[in-house]
Amino acid sequence: MSSISTTRAVVLARSPQRSGPVSEDFTISELAVGELAAGQLLVRNEYMSVDPSMRGRLEPTEKHYTTNFVVGQALDGSAVGQVLESTVDGVPVGAHVRHRMGWRDHAIVDASSVAVVDPTVAPLNQWLGMLGQTGFTAWAGLRRTAEFKPGDAVFVSAAAGAVGSAVGQFARLLGASRVVGSAGGESKRRLLIDEFGFDDAFDYRAGPSSEQLARVAPDGIDVYFDNVGGEQLVAALESIRLNGRIAICGMISNFSDGPRPDIGALIQAVLKRVTIRGFIVRDHEDMRADFESQVSTWLRQDKLVSRDTIYDGLESAVEALFGVMSGANVGKMLVRLDPSA
Ligand code: NAP
Repeated sequence: MSSISTTRAVVLARSPQRSGPVSEDFTISELAVGELAAGQLLVRNEYMSVDPSMRGRLEPTEKHYTTNFVVGQALDGSAVGQVLESTVDGVPVGAHVRHRMGWRDHAIVDASSVAVVDPTVAPLNQWLGMLGQTGFTAWAGLRRTAEFKPGDAVFVSAAAGAVGSAVGQFARLLGASRVVGSAGGESKRRLLIDEFGFDDAFDYRAGPSSEQLARVAPDGIDVYFDNVGGEQLVAALESIRLNGRIAICGMISNFSDGPRPDIGALIQAVLKRVTIRGFIVRDHEDMRADFESQVSTWLRQDKLVSRDTIYDGLESAVEALFGVMSGANVGKMLVRLDPSA
């Protein structure tokens, strides 16, 4: 038996209504931790990631690229924490690991499914953000899916968020000719320019995206990194140049009410010979080592701004999930589970 017999976890208490999840759909329960078997680690989670994909995983039907949440069971997601007990030679007590059993204070995990992370290379929160799956999504999507090359003019939506703020900065550091972004609200628009170093930006709520994108990128764009879908995708199709490339990373606007743009805008892809390609980051693990090497170097050289929005305690996790869907975050949305972290 491990030294800890139970742990608190966020559990899906009931199926959300069609109108979307509410806080009463979740509860915090005490769960049995179980026995530590050979090849396993007992981890105390210190930070956990809050991802828009979790919203898709709450849908009753399979609409997402990973498993959906089940009523009566704990949620899960990326987390980093410290090993309290280990049955594995290569991962000693005290090591820090990144794994998929977040949304609980403690977890037993298979050592074969974790990544050991080094808190002397970057703080633990960055191993979930700029140096974690978030930064890696930006890296793989920009470099491989969008086939970015120096000199490209790049547009990214949800640009003040975790993936978007990484995309904009990576594009600049890799030699983009112009980097423009969109975000909700004037203060985020200013932040993109003043803090994240975008050449220009627009507030997608302040007017039609097509007009605003044409203003901030008057000569057009070569690459659109799409985090939101909807009318911003249409705007990008209108502004994109011949042989442009669009990387479809996510479509968070699909969860909002309101009219959806007509698919007819896709004729622009024909006229301009545009490549539109979706991607899932886990298909690109072969790029991970290069990514970690380059991005940890940029972080050490203070060439990247890595911002997080951190909520404290498991009891704030559901609020953080609603927050990431409504734009309460700048950079990576995290929950700190261990107040001493
Ligand atoms: P994030 O951008 O940090 O947070 C989501 C942001 O979306 C919010 O801060 C909000 O910012 C914006 N937003 C919410 N509703 C919107 C709407 N209706 N229209 C436009 N913007 C809206 O989240 P993230 O973790 O970095 O993820 C960004 C996107 O990448 C998501 O679509 C996610 O699903 C996707 N993703 C895909 C992969 C993959 O493998 N393909 C991996 C990771 C993430 P504002 O304040 O600016 O509205």
